[in-house]
Amino acid sequence: MKKAYSFLKRNSTEEKHIFEGEFTTESCTAPTLSICQKANKNQGTWITGSTCLTEQSAREKAGAIGKSVCGICVSHLYTTDY
Ligand SMILES: [Zn+2]
Repeated sequence: MKKAYSFLKRNSTEEKHIFEGEFTTESCTAPTLSICQKANKNQGTWITGSTCLTEQSAREKAGAIGKSVCGICVSHLYTTDY
């Protein structure tokens, strides 16, 4: 199953976190917690144009957003052994 990645901005901070779900016919799913388990999707806002991305697109997006993306979440995108 292909993974789908979505970026969320925490309401309390400028920090962005990544959620790993799966593609569905019309969009994609997202778990309650981010990859790093530190951000809850109910406590943030999905970033427009940055949801339901492929792994490759998510890497590019993380690079475009820059340092405000959580490092733990980003590093997971580069983990290929799972
Ligand atoms: Zn994170």
